[in-house]
Amino acid sequence: MEFDRAKQTAYLLAADSIEGEDIGSYSYEHLRMPGAYWTLCALASLDSLNTERKIEITTWVLKCQHPNGGFGGNLNHDPHITNTHYAVLVLSLYNSLDLLDKEKVASYICGLQQENGSFKGDEWGESDLRFVYCALSCMKIIGKLDRINIDKCIEYVLACKNFEGAFGAVPGAESHAAYSFCAVGALAVIDRLDLIDRDELGYWLMLRQTETGGFNGRPEKLPDVCYSWWALSSMFMIQREHWINFEALTNFIIKAQDLEGKGGIADRPGNESDVFHTFFGIAGLSLMKHPGLQTVDPIYALPIKTLDSIFP
Ligand SMILES: [Zn+2]
Repeated sequence: MEFDRAKQTAYLLAADSIEGEDIGSYSYEHLRMPGAYWTLCALASLDSLNTERKIEITTWVLKCQHPNGGFGGNLNHDPHITNTHYAVLVLSLYNSLDLLDKEKVASYICGLQQENGSFKGDEWGESDLRFVYCALSCMKIIGKLDRINIDKCIEYVLACKNFEGAFGAVPGAESHAAYSFCAVGALAVIDRLDLIDRDELGYWLMLRQTETGGFNGRPEKLPDVCYSWWALSSMFMIQREHWINFEALTNFIIKAQDLEGKGGIADRPGNESDVFHTFFGIAGLSLMKHPGLQTVDPIYALPIKTLDSIFP
């Protein structure tokens, strides 16, 4: 079996198509902003981003912004830090950050930082490592990193570190590959990977690769294609990617493709595909320099080509 570029491109272009009055059929209504990012970033990695829809999509993204600066997941949805981050990523893909009121976004994100250094996801106050990564990545991309209390962020990230060298969602929570990505990504954005014991964390992440070739997120759990991103990109950031069996991981992702039906990639072979796992499968393959894919940057999850124009 091989990566079916044509089939996956067609699947993603169909997800990016217009349905009636809607902007696209990316995903469920409340996941439209993340769905747009997963779909469009995967298409960008395939060199197939439909630039004809640039104005339509960027206009829709900007309409999802609230007066307080935060973005909702769709029109008339409450603002949230993750959707604000996704909105910034989608505008980045279309090289349209100049359309954004960056000051408003910066003041929204700053307003969510808490005394312990973490960030609330929204006004209701849930907070964990994900939002520290979202805040730092977003602020770096819009050139407002200096507005955040970086020392407090570092304090919080390190408080989430466990004895194995990996990270949990909040201080005291069990280690998890996706939260480890958030910790490593957050520290990479501010250029403080020196605070991580790379061998210790690398060893724990290496053990996440199962006999199937795919990664799990925690010990004893089933492998899942999305960890091809969370775990592998972390390994790249800490420069321990050579501890991973690329061939086995590539095969796992390739086998999770839906080649008989509509296309896409599932969480594991035999399951139903979705845009989330399609994006993370393609992003994982791109990190391993799979032929014909634009490499996605392990820190910012945008094609390196896109980032080159943001951080010239
Ligand atoms: Zn998954």
